[in-house]
Amino acid sequence: MSRDVIVVGAGGGGPVVAKELASRGLDVLLLEGGARHGDPRREWTHLENDANNPLTGFLRAGPSDRDAPAWLRETPQNSYLLQATGVGGTTLHYYGNSPRAFRGVFAGYTGADRAMYDTAHAFPFRYEELVPYYAWVEATLPVQTAAMGVKETVFLGGAERLGLPVQTTKDTLTASFRPQENAILQPGGTAGRTGDPARLRHPQATGCTFCGYCLQGCMEPAGAPRNQAAKRSTDNSYVPMALTAPAWSRHGRAVTLLADAYVTRVHTARRSGRTTATGVTWRSVTTGETHREDAKVVVLAGGTTETPRLWLNSGLPNPNGWVGRGLTDHHLDFVTGVFDDDTGSSRGPSSAARCDFPGYGSLENVGVPPAMQAFSFALSDSGIRGRYRNGRGPTGPWDGRAGRVVGPELKELLAHGVDRLLNVLILTGDDVEPDNRVTLSALPTDEHGQIPKAVLRHRSRSRRTADSREYLARRAAELLRKAGARRVHRMDWAPLLLHIHSSMRMGASAANSVLDADAQSRWVSALYVADNSALPNALGGPNPTLTTQALATRTAEKIFTTHFSGTPWITDEPPVPSTDPRISAVL
Ligand SMILES: Cc1cc2nc3c(=O)[nH]c(=O)nc-3n(C[C@H](O)[C@H](O)[C@H](O)COP(=O)(O)OP(=O)(O)OC[C@H]3O[C@@H](n4cnc5c(N)ncnc54)[C@H](O)[C@@H]3O)c2cc1C
Repeated sequence: MSRDVIVVGAGGGGPVVAKELASRGLDVLLLEGGARHGDPRREWTHLENDANNPLTGFLRAGPSDRDAPAWLRETPQNSYLLQATGVGGTTLHYYGNSPRAFRGVFAGYTGADRAMYDTAHAFPFRYEELVPYYAWVEATLPVQTAAMGVKETVFLGGAERLGLPVQTTKDTLTASFRPQENAILQPGGTAGRTGDPARLRHPQATGCTFCGYCLQGCMEPAGAPRNQAAKRSTDNSYVPMALTAPAWSRHGRAVTLLADAYVTRVHTARRSGRTTATGVTWRSVTTGETHREDAKVVVLAGGTTETPRLWLNSGLPNPNGWVGRGLTDHHLDFVTGVFDDDTGSSRGPSSAARCDFPGYGSLENVGVPPAMQAFSFALSDSGIRGRYRNGRGPTGPWDGRAGRVVGPELKELLAHGVDRLLNVLILTGDDVEPDNRVTLSALPTDEHGQIPKAVLRHRSRSRRTADSREYLARRAAELLRKAGARRVHRMDWAPLLLHIHSSMRMGASAANSVLDADAQSRWVSALYVADNSALPNALGGPNPTLTTQALATRTAEKIFTTHFSGTPWITDEPPVPSTDPRISAVL
């Protein structure tokens, strides 16, 4: 049987295409290599090792059987790759922050700060073209102004004393601060007003319960239907919509979702003189059996490391050598303030406030549970603070040199758990550089072929990228001092690969892109990409998932009109929010 569309990967991007096309009546098969996580209250806990251990955690990259080995990915530098497999993908981890990209990364931008952006790798269309798709996704998830607590009061107070104005528009026009726009339902009823689990059950409590564990998959409040869980990771939003399309859409057809179904090959044939995608082979991760499925259109959404891996393992064309190249990661860094009073770091949505500096990037506050906090102090490219020859991290408005914090200093930092700390995450608008890339590893193959290798030349980024990161680190330290921090530490993080993009980039130039302006492969017809890898660049620094989902919505519309004689819908119909009571599917 031939399907209309096969989507590979049920993470941030794939379910968007699946839901949009199924709601227009197409027969869509959604294949996910990881687990289905159908009953989070039984499968998940708030224990950090249980969730985040990269070898055995329920959010690791690996098969759903936790006794089976995790999947190894090569990172040939001091770095850590944080990706989750399973329905929801890495949005199981994500904080739901959903800013729009800076306008300067799009074609046709004429602002005075144009030279601050990587214009050689701009979006191949104008910002205004994406706005209706942003609005559609914002209404669907939905995206709302974040609920805030103590840590936001502290952070925003510091931002205000830096002299920045408040941003009040969805579009970022100038350096400013604001509450996050995030995809976490605002607290209602008893949520956010009590820590008593007995009073935090749905429907007495709705939305975010302020549990502080956004990182570990959202199952709050207890007893809520899956599509009413607070965080709008795709397992709680787009996937339930895709599975119940006939219930809420006039022409809807339910998506077929197969988990533990790892795609190992994309097939092509010559059609009308063009190499054309015809289907995929997938392997059951539980039985080892392989299956072949055909479709009119294939959409790759396995994420920034896995999509190029699948492409290269399938032997698909790569005439300009850009498959996997141009990997961007926001050149992250972490600056932490130590306070005398409670900062509320363990409570509320993990990150609910931000500052944006168009041309440089962004800052956001981040509260993490204790083990992740300790991990964040241990990840540095400057060695241990003040020790050995490597203890020569950069100096600035932080205390001493940047670097890892260990021993008595670390003990002192964590003496009050995390609630005397305030972390600022630095998101740099990094340039697309061809030598930062995903390629195939020479390490032994796994059951799905050659494994991916993510290469980042961390110490030789472009001048603009390096300068932007230093600028943002300084602003972060100044903000923390103005907020009342008595000490400030900068980590000078080694690459923490959690915002990763642009390894299969779309672009205006055929010389340095894999996808055309419709997100279709330049060399294989009917083959599209709809995950972070399709992004042309790092968006200038803003968190990527909303833009990936807006682009995936646009890509779904292009597929519908190009291959199925459909008509565009984006400006003609009101979107259905994923919280609609007709969408009550359990996964
Ligand atoms: C701690 C943390 C916090 C974050 N916070 C934010 C935030 O606040 N805002 C934001 O915008 N972004 C955030 N992100 C990033 C966000 O999670 C990603 O942008 C998003 O998940 C990327 O979507 P994707 O579709 O590219 O990949 P993924 O979400 O990784 O999904 C890919 C899916 O495809 C599956 N897959 C891969 N290969 C195959 C194959 N061959 N066959 C079948 N299935 C396959 C994978 O198992 C996975 O489920 C955060 C990330 C982390 C780790």
